[in-house]
Amino acid sequence: MPTPPPHANESHPALADLDQELNRLQRAIRLAIQNQLAKLTGQSLGSLRENQDLADSIHRLLDSHGLRIQCIECGHPAILRVSPRSGTASGAFVFDHSIDGRRTFHGGKGTVPEIRLVAKPPRKKADPPRKATAG
Ligand SMILES: [Zn+2]
Repeated sequence: MPTPPPHANESHPALADLDQELNRLQRAIRLAIQNQLAKLTGQSLGSLRENQDLADSIHRLLDSHGLRIQCIECGHPAILRVSPRSGTASGAFVFDHSIDGRRTFHGGKGTVPEIRLVAKPPRKKADPPRKATAG
């Protein structure tokens, strides 16, 4: 008789230690990135294109570490983007996020807003289509 597998929710002590260590490192990374990005707050580059590239670079950096920017208006995890806006040559920094399933933009200043980092929310699972219930 094969031995039954251990309960899935009981992780090995070595793994629990590792988990704790990784959490600590992740927090250190998040703070390090946040400290660097804080230097950009209040800045604007010369053109819409440059600001969009900046927002894009920030997003790629954050995404590779499983992070998002926290919206200063509502607190939801968001992606920083730069939208063209009439009246400004260099666009507006907006927080792009979904609230109640609807894509929503907040912010809209002409300079990089205050940046606070939060963990990226887990992707919503799309339920795989199931076959009709068996007889
Ligand atoms: Zn918001």
